[in-house]
Amino acid sequence: MTRHTLETLTFDNRYARLPEVFYAKVNPTPFRAAPFLISANPAAMELIDLDSREAARPEFAGVFGGSLLVPGMEPLAMLYSGHQFGVYVPQLGDGRAILLGEIVNGRGERWDLHLKGAGMTPFSRDGDGRSVLRSAIREYLCCEAMHGLGIPTTRALCLVGSDDKVYRQQVETGATIVRMAPSHVRFGTFEIFYYRKQHEHLQRLADYVIEMHFPDLALAADKYVRFFAAVVERTAKLIAQWQAVGWSHGVLNTDNMSILGLTLDYGPYGFMDDYDPGFICNHSDYNGRYAFNQQPYIGLWNLSCLAQTLLPLAPKEELKAVLDRYQVTVDRYYRDLMRKKLGLREDRGEDEALLQELKSLMVGSRVDYTIFWRELGTFSSDPAAKNERLREHFLNLDRFDAWAGQYRERLRSEDSRDDERQAGMNRVNPKYVLRNYLAQGAIEKAQQKDYAEIDRLLNLLRDPYTDHPGMNSYAAAPPNWGKHLSVSCSS
Ligand code: AMP
Ligand code: MG
Repeated sequence: MTRHTLETLTFDNRYARLPEVFYAKVNPTPFRAAPFLISANPAAMELIDLDSREAARPEFAGVFGGSLLVPGMEPLAMLYSGHQFGVYVPQLGDGRAILLGEIVNGRGERWDLHLKGAGMTPFSRDGDGRSVLRSAIREYLCCEAMHGLGIPTTRALCLVGSDDKVYRQQVETGATIVRMAPSHVRFGTFEIFYYRKQHEHLQRLADYVIEMHFPDLALAADKYVRFFAAVVERTAKLIAQWQAVGWSHGVLNTDNMSILGLTLDYGPYGFMDDYDPGFICNHSDYNGRYAFNQQPYIGLWNLSCLAQTLLPLAPKEELKAVLDRYQVTVDRYYRDLMRKKLGLREDRGEDEALLQELKSLMVGSRVDYTIFWRELGTFSSDPAAKNERLREHFLNLDRFDAWAGQYRERLRSEDSRDDERQAGMNRVNPKYVLRNYLAQGAIEKAQQKDYAEIDRLLNLLRDPYTDHPGMNSYAAAPPNWGKHLSVSCSS
């Protein structure tokens, strides 16, 4: 495999070949104070065949901090609109992100290089086009944490800082992150052309997305319906994965919904600590529209917005029939994931009750979601075993014992072996997730110019299912200060 330098990266900018109404050409605005590299992600560098030694060059921070371009880049801000908190906003677009170009790697995979925090674009509205260090760190780490968990997501190439001041509630400093995905097209990209009644652009967009990302469908007579079905399937799977791991996006507006079913736009997201189905991670979400347990429904709501945009291209009844399959698809994926989390091999209807009772017990005792599932792998099915370690999580011990008795019976009925089951459960119940307080610890150190914690978390979270000796404290429940950190959209 060829290893490229910054100057020899191979670009094939297909989005830039679309009509100019799809975007605005705009260069990054350099910071006044020279950008410096905070962290580079070797796994993502490999995806674009970029030699890992390139990160050590000053030009690396220059290019990915927005002060230099390399040959082949054609920077642009993508146009889109979207429903924000249920209300249609006729124009959004990349207000602080710039698509530098699209790389094709040696395996023929395409990767957008999307520079976030790179300064104003024609779509910045009242914003300054910048990201603060704190929010860039959160996005950088969570992209890679989600990838480590096996959840589809945009990836993160690097994090670059600057001493330039950025004004939010407090004075902070600016940073950029480079985000990578095969495409940054969102549901909102379809919405803008639909609501502007620009149906020829809408069709052009649909054909483009199908050709680039769903090529198997390109020749089908009903390609738009099939394309929608593929998006429904991917979205359902994605959201089921969020539900199983206990993660909330926080701002599931249609402009933050990836057409490829990737987790996109990390803002006030959160992994749950104590299990709370009504968990709201976004401090500005006063009504809980994007609460944890609303996500599967919001997926449907957002997909119905997308379906509407396809009405000029496909028969309504067929789109509706596809949409009607969403709920069962989410449920099917979720049930399958939870069965694996329980360590059950066979899929049986009665397991629903077992899971419901467990979740109800967990809510009642405010059990730590991640720790409990990981520890459930230590369950002993020996009738004499008390499973004290698990019992300790619960207030109502009789009820837990009753549940444990049912679980034991269920395990015995499929001849489950404790050691085998635990090994399997450890592959689906992560030991480490990016809890808010862990990200906060890395942020506070970074604000003092100590960046080691970012790389430490990056390394740990890329492999969250394996025990990392000496890193036990990273698997612990939050200390009191870290329990209810407030995170809002002001990033
Ligand atoms: P988000 O909530 O991050 O998905 O952003 C919603 C919209 O606001 C998008 O169009 C963003 O590009 C834009 N936006 C968010 N923050 C800024 C900022 N600091 N400057 C300019 N535009 C922004
Ligand atoms: Mg967004």
